Amino acid sequence: MADSVDRSNLWFDDGNIILSVRGTHFRVHRGVLARHSKVFKDMTSIPQPPAADSCPTVPLDDNPEDWEKLLKIMYDCDLSHLSWETFELPALAAVLRLGRKYAIDKLHESALERILGAIPDSLVKLDKYFLELGQGVPFGDDLIDLLNLLLELDLDSRRPVVYWLCLYWISLNEILHGVERLDGTIARLSPESIERLIQGQDNILRSLEFMAFQDVCVPSPMCTRKVTCGSVVAIRSLVWPFPFVDTALKKGMHPALNNLCQQCQDNLAGIRETRRLGLWNNLPYYFGLGPQATE
Ligand SMILES: [Zn+2]
Repeated sequence: MADSVDRSNLWFDDGNIILSVRGTHFRVHRGVLARHSKVFKDMTSIPQPPAADSCPTVPLDDNPEDWEKLLKIMYDCDLSHLSWETFELPALAAVLRLGRKYAIDKLHESALERILGAIPDSLVKLDKYFLELGQGVPFGDDLIDLLNLLLELDLDSRRPVVYWLCLYWISLNEILHGVERLDGTIARLSPESIERLIQGQDNILRSLEFMAFQDVCVPSPMCTRKVTCGSVVAIRSLVWPFPFVDTALKKGMHPALNNLCQQCQDNLAGIRETRRLGLWNNLPYYFGLGPQATE
């Protein structure tokens, strides 16, 4: 039988257990699995092989690619998925899925720490995310796969900010129809996420209507150039009459407002910071995942 199976690259001749994952077979070592996984350690009902010199086969209903990634991490000591220089979502996802299912606690814990660390959980960390934007953080097509993974694993606490990052990085067309990955496949959002994103965008826009009126605070009481500052705001209101959902949470003001006097800039920056914090605190509410926050 061993000659007719679809052998994976992970096939050790001295292995003593065969994992049959939806048709792909991995011949590995029971002791290695047991060392990582409580489930395999406690496994007592492994079917006996027909012949004394062959391995028992354990059928598993998982993604074979996930198992291949996990076994390479176990056997090759390849911990590149934990690097902060890159964001290797497929490997992290494999460890999180199988780690949770088979109680592979240590690897699961480190993968969870890495993936949650990539998602800002405060306004300060969101500013840092944009400052250090590189390969080590999720954006573009990664965001859709990340969101689907958070949904699959019930990791709800970081979903609101990932939804907002989707509004920042992904167009409405891509929200509805998906984003092409580097390998040509399409990353698609779930119907639930599409609905939350569209409703969230509408909720944030309604909240931002108030922000458009903050410009009435210019000229500020301490203004040193009331006529100039007044005209800067008047022109800005004509050219950019609407607030923007995608940039509302980003630090800093529109470049056009750099022409205001320092007093007006400071005054407006203070108001904007307060509003930005209010928006951040209400992200769960906007995306239907929490109550409205009091400001
Ligand atoms: Zn001024």
